[in-house]
Amino acid sequence: MRYGIDIGHNCPPDTGARGIKFEDNLTLDVGNRVIAKLRALGHQVVECKPDKATTVADSLRQRCDRANRAKVDVFVSIHFNAFNRKANGTEIFAGSTRGHQIAKPVLDEIVKLGFFNRGLKNGSHLFVISNTNMPAILVECCFIDSQKDMSIFEAEAMANAIVIGLTGKAAPEEKINVIPDEKNNPDNSVLRLKRALNRLQIKPANGRTLSEDNVYDAQTKSAVERFQEIVGIQKTGVAGNTTWGAINEILAKRIIRRNHAGGVVVRYLQFRLNLDIDGIFGPQTENAVKAFQRSKGLFADGIVGPATWQKLIG
Ligand SMILES: [Zn+2]
Repeated sequence: MRYGIDIGHNCPPDTGARGIKFEDNLTLDVGNRVIAKLRALGHQVVECKPDKATTVADSLRQRCDRANRAKVDVFVSIHFNAFNRKANGTEIFAGSTRGHQIAKPVLDEIVKLGFFNRGLKNGSHLFVISNTNMPAILVECCFIDSQKDMSIFEAEAMANAIVIGLTGKAAPEEKINVIPDEKNNPDNSVLRLKRALNRLQIKPANGRTLSEDNVYDAQTKSAVERFQEIVGIQKTGVAGNTTWGAINEILAKRIIRRNHAGGVVVRYLQFRLNLDIDGIFGPQTENAVKAFQRSKGLFADGIVGPATWQKLIG
């Protein structure tokens, strides 16, 4: 089978909803996993999300064009809902009878994860459903502004449910190539600490790079204090859980943009961009990100995504 997988939004000015979590981040996380799993099962996948767009309409048009040009068998658009913080659950839109047949097992699998079943719905009002030539479904996985949904949502489980629903089988574990994420890296060794601080360009008092070994010396303590100061946590000079949490959160290279939740990652970013550190990704930070992106030859969209993180911390 050839699947057209459309990771919703993630293409400014086509950006998703904001709630407890951000739609763009979740669609990207789930979508990348779905793509990897389908490929591991031997299916062809055409990635439909464009890299850039001039308008939201342009973004949507490009998604359909990619699917239509590649003549995919099934088009699957991945989104998350947001409404009034009370609404919750999963719904899937389709435009044809065949589309509804494809959507049904996907919905059943997602509902098994504990989400309320909002049902299959007619999605002919949706641009990507009405402008694709093949059976198309749009999955609203759950609500990003619902505490209930966000407390049970896991990207891996959601991706598995979608893949099982589409194909009738789970991807073999060993073939799944999920993008590694540092957020849950359990290695708290001094060696990894010193390597991380060097990678983050945190200098100790002597201004030098730390020696990459397992010795927690005075310079290590000094660099840890500097890091703690930058990210706004208690300056102890000791790398405890809070410090490691902050390090891993930065190394996880989450997509961040203007008005994204603030905190340690934004503070670190402001440190790197020589800005006043307030932990809020406002217009000033966005302009500095754009300037940084231009200086590195990147598309200056003001969003810190994988390419910008690569230039910042490798
Ligand atoms: Zn959406």
